[in-house]
Amino acid sequence: MTRITPQPGIMDIALYEGGQSHLEGKANVLKLSSNENPLGAPEPAREAFLRAVRDLHRYPNTDHAGLRQAIGEVWALDPRRIVCGVGSDEIIHFLCQAYAGPGDEVIHTEHGFAMYRISALAAGATPVEVPERERTTDVDAILAAATPRTKLVFIANPNNPTGTMIGEGELAQLADGLPPQALLVLDGAYAEYVEGYDAGAALIAARDNVVMTRTFSKIYGLGGLRVGWGYGPQEVVDTLNRVRGPFNLSTAALMAAEAAVRDRAWVQRCRQENARWRDWLAARLAELGVPSDVATANFVLARFADAAEANACDEHLRGEGIIVRRVAGYKLPHCLRITVGDEASCRRVAHAIGQFKGGR
Ligand SMILES: *Cc1c(COP(=O)(O)O)cnc(C)c1O
Repeated sequence: MTRITPQPGIMDIALYEGGQSHLEGKANVLKLSSNENPLGAPEPAREAFLRAVRDLHRYPNTDHAGLRQAIGEVWALDPRRIVCGVGSDEIIHFLCQAYAGPGDEVIHTEHGFAMYRISALAAGATPVEVPERERTTDVDAILAAATPRTKLVFIANPNNPTGTMIGEGELAQLADGLPPQALLVLDGAYAEYVEGYDAGAALIAARDNVVMTRTFSKIYGLGGLRVGWGYGPQEVVDTLNRVRGPFNLSTAALMAAEAAVRDRAWVQRCRQENARWRDWLAARLAELGVPSDVATANFVLARFADAAEANACDEHLRGEGIIVRRVAGYKLPHCLRITVGDEASCRRVAHAIGQFKGGR
């Protein structure tokens, strides 16, 4: 067995730990650990998924034309420049596979999403971590870290798990300042939660070194189906389509996602409900002595005095049947990431944290 070894870098990948969903011996568990939509998936998406059962023996279409057309109409984008993947995770993977290899550097930020490092290592490239400023993307630090070997720069905007974001001016400054061989990837997994934010579409229209990734896992409530997409320069999209498996998305996933993206009223309602209860939750926690940064997505990053207090609060919440996310793996051991649920869920988690703070 010792003669058979994986490619360099592969064994440096730590296995991904997802948000937990069960607690031993607890009924009525409240899962606020994976940034899922508390309202579930929109009804038209559920119906489309059920209709797909008739065609289970058929291969799915390989060009994803229907879904790309729908995305293009809804977001005013050119469908030819859209590529669909098994979650946006797969688009991130395609980008690393196609553009980064041994000797190349892939920049991600200090508290950036785990998949950037994982996909960079899987491609044999070198991940480069850049510090953030007060849990926020630091454009100057990224530009200072860029080298002639930098091939990809990943920014989640809004970022997970910090929930902060940077403005269009800073994004443009970043795109303009990168060396010519580097591609800027704007991960817009939470873009729909930000009123009026185009996720970088205008930047992509004006430049040839910017790509966005998007997902159906968050506001569309389809995390279980695994559908995401990317948008960027035609050459980049054509390149990603070469490494994409021809049947990467199932018919059921394609049909449900197409129905979901066309349900604009759903997105608007979810955005509004989320903003209302997110801001309520953050304000309530602040009253309890648990501060957080201005949250722009569907979660709040609650800050505690230190790691011991954060872990003790997490233990208390588990005792109350509530699962939130520890983020020590994201270099934030004194924080807990709490997904914004519906009204009852927000009240329940705030009440439990109040018990914890009161009992100390
Ligand atoms: C949740 C999330 C995604 C979505 O991943 P999918 O593979 O589309 O489910 C992407 N990026 C970030 C930063 C996320 O938090």
